[in-house]
Amino acid sequence: MSKPTPGPWKISHGGFGTDDGFSIASNSIEAKNVKQVAECWPCAIVNDDHRRELAANARLIAAAPQLLAALKAVEWEGWAPREDDYCCPSCRNPKYTKHHPNCQLHAAIRAAEGTEL
Ligand SMILES: [Zn+2]
Repeated sequence: MSKPTPGPWKISHGGFGTDDGFSIASNSIEAKNVKQVAECWPCAIVNDDHRRELAANARLIAAAPQLLAALKAVEWEGWAPREDDYCCPSCRNPKYTKHHPNCQLHAAIRAAEGTEL
């Protein structure tokens, strides 16, 4: 399975004076195949709320590598009764049983890592 473009990702503002769009690009020298990872370009900015929402979307996309890394870092860091065991801090299932089917943390990791297209 392919991995996403290495992070960190950064936001760049639009290229034109009246252009309020954003692009998200990798800021890593390890990014060899893809540098520009996403764009948030409006057809037209309707109002300030639209502009702020667009900026919030760009921030969320740019934070994706950091968010995924944080989720994976804590995935099995929950306290468990047995000293040699760990559990998921979200669903509280021990690692040897895997996540509960409705675990939010596991769902978020799966959504980010997905399956090959
Ligand atoms: Zn879980």
